Amino acid sequence: VSFTHLTNLPAQVKALEQLQEIDLKIDRIRKDQGDMPAALKALDDTLAKSKGTVALKQAAIDEAHKIQRQAQAALDMNRDRVARASGKLESVQNTHEYQAASKEQEQLHKMAKTLEDQIKKCGVDIEALTKDLDGLNAQLAQAQASRDEQHGKLSGQSSNLQGQIDSLQAERKKFSSTVDARVLATYDRVRPARAGLGIVPSIGGRCVGCNMMVPPQLFNEIQKGSALHSCPSCHRLLYVKTETPATA
Ligand SMILES: [Zn+2]
Repeated sequence: VSFTHLTNLPAQVKALEQLQEIDLKIDRIRKDQGDMPAALKALDDTLAKSKGTVALKQAAIDEAHKIQRQAQAALDMNRDRVARASGKLESVQNTHEYQAASKEQEQLHKMAKTLEDQIKKCGVDIEALTKDLDGLNAQLAQAQASRDEQHGKLSGQSSNLQGQIDSLQAERKKFSSTVDARVLATYDRVRPARAGLGIVPSIGGRCVGCNMMVPPQLFNEIQKGSALHSCPSCHRLLYVKTETPATA
């Protein structure tokens, strides 16, 4: 694409350069805005993981309570059987019956001991698990608070970024209004497709955007400032920097 007979071409090129600086700033802010949902999601994921750990610990406590209740019920039943076995032992008729009854009682006592140990062990487990749970709940509360705080900060940042974009877009209008409508349309069309650069310098006959040689006739016209051309290979608008590089 070529544009000839543009009024005050150097001023338009200057305006496009400034426009592009603003547009690149807007691009960076939009990228930051785009990163924010991911930051929030990471916080929510951490919180969900924390909640999952708490739920697992709670389930382990519930299970220990269940085992303890079952052992207690078995122990209660065992006591009734011990009482019955004692009755039997008192009414034995012979040695054989005595041996059988006393063996049964011995087994019941053994069983009672096992159940009592199990109940005690469950109690110890529950105590330890409950202590763990308290710690995890404290961590969860902290994760929740930090998530809420970050959430508030991020939404504050979000409206702040939007404010920056709004003012940059207002500033953008100052420059875009001075650029020829067709040139601006080309710049706006090419820029998003070309890494955010719609206008690039041409140095030594090459397009800085894609590094391809610009046809000499085009380069001449660009250099003279008589016309605005877009690069035949990347379609970015080309200009030649007129300022002499600053010397250190
Ligand atoms: Zn190019």
